[in-house]
Amino acid sequence: MRLTERCLRLAYRAGARLFYGSGANADWIYEKVQRPRNVGVLALNFLYYYLRRPKIGGIVSLILEPVSGCNLRCTYCRGKMDLEGRRPYLMSWETFCRAIDTAPRSVESVALCAFGEPLLHPRICDMIDYIRASGRRVVLYSNCTLLTGERLDQLAKTDLSVLSVSIEPDAETSRKYRGVDLDEIRRNVETFARLMQPETEIKLSIVAHPGNIDRIDKAADAWRPLVEHVKVGAMVGFDGAGHTGQCAEPWRGNIVVFSNGKVSPCCVDLYADLVIGDVNESSLSDMIRAPEFARLLDRFIHGPVPDLCARCGEFAAPGVPAKAPRRPHRRRKASP
Ligand code: SF4
Repeated sequence: MRLTERCLRLAYRAGARLFYGSGANADWIYEKVQRPRNVGVLALNFLYYYLRRPKIGGIVSLILEPVSGCNLRCTYCRGKMDLEGRRPYLMSWETFCRAIDTAPRSVESVALCAFGEPLLHPRICDMIDYIRASGRRVVLYSNCTLLTGERLDQLAKTDLSVLSVSIEPDAETSRKYRGVDLDEIRRNVETFARLMQPETEIKLSIVAHPGNIDRIDKAADAWRPLVEHVKVGAMVGFDGAGHTGQCAEPWRGNIVVFSNGKVSPCCVDLYADLVIGDVNESSLSDMIRAPEFARLLDRFIHGPVPDLCARCGEFAAPGVPAKAPRRPHRRRKASP
């Protein structure tokens, strides 16, 4: 491991403990931020968050939604909800290029996922090539059930940075919560691993929920040495938990572009309730400096929070990093 990588990983482990209450997110942060300059951007974001300022230092990562639908219906996933008629099933090539071309230079990684299975997009490999040509890393989140045949061969030829395999920890939970055969997924991933480019890395991505929390550690052991890193994220629900407070999500340095080009600062905003603009109409760089975004951030700081946030809650368990920590609102000073 290079010295810079070692230093960044150590720093992220300490930062993740401080911010998320667990060092487990350190690799996730490293996946998104590797340019030393962007460490400053992240630090500025967190400073603004702690000082309760309605602005951000910048964004370092994009989350794009190439497809707003999935071939699976996992019991805990918001992607199973019906998006038909709300936005296009496939992101158009023009919208995709607008998102990449208007992203600030600070964006160094692009995740292909949001609320759908990216391998359903017929031009997914072209998207990966385009992002790589712009000098950014690409992380593709996939359930890997479609990682077969020609699609697999084409994906293996791309310069993909990370294939993040979204699974349940074992065969039983895979059948129960995802309705899929984990052995079949494993075979697909093993075939991909034999053909992929030397720089591509494979990781696991697991959503922690009450039905699998005691099995997650075993998954990491079962997938070695094929996989070194396992990303664990908490299940997020919208059951009217009555949450208030300042959620850290918009200060984390990510921005989401949905299949229709609408932009949100939150990666669980399924129905695009927190939209701050549209890449087809303005640039991402302008959007994050616009008054609309500042007004939204101000609601996070002082309240009232948007309805979606008031209903948002995540599964909590020891060792599972909070996706977006929250803290009490700041009271507004009474006007004289
Ligand atoms: S409270 Fe929930 S919905 Fe709102 S920004 Fe945070 S994570 Fe997203």
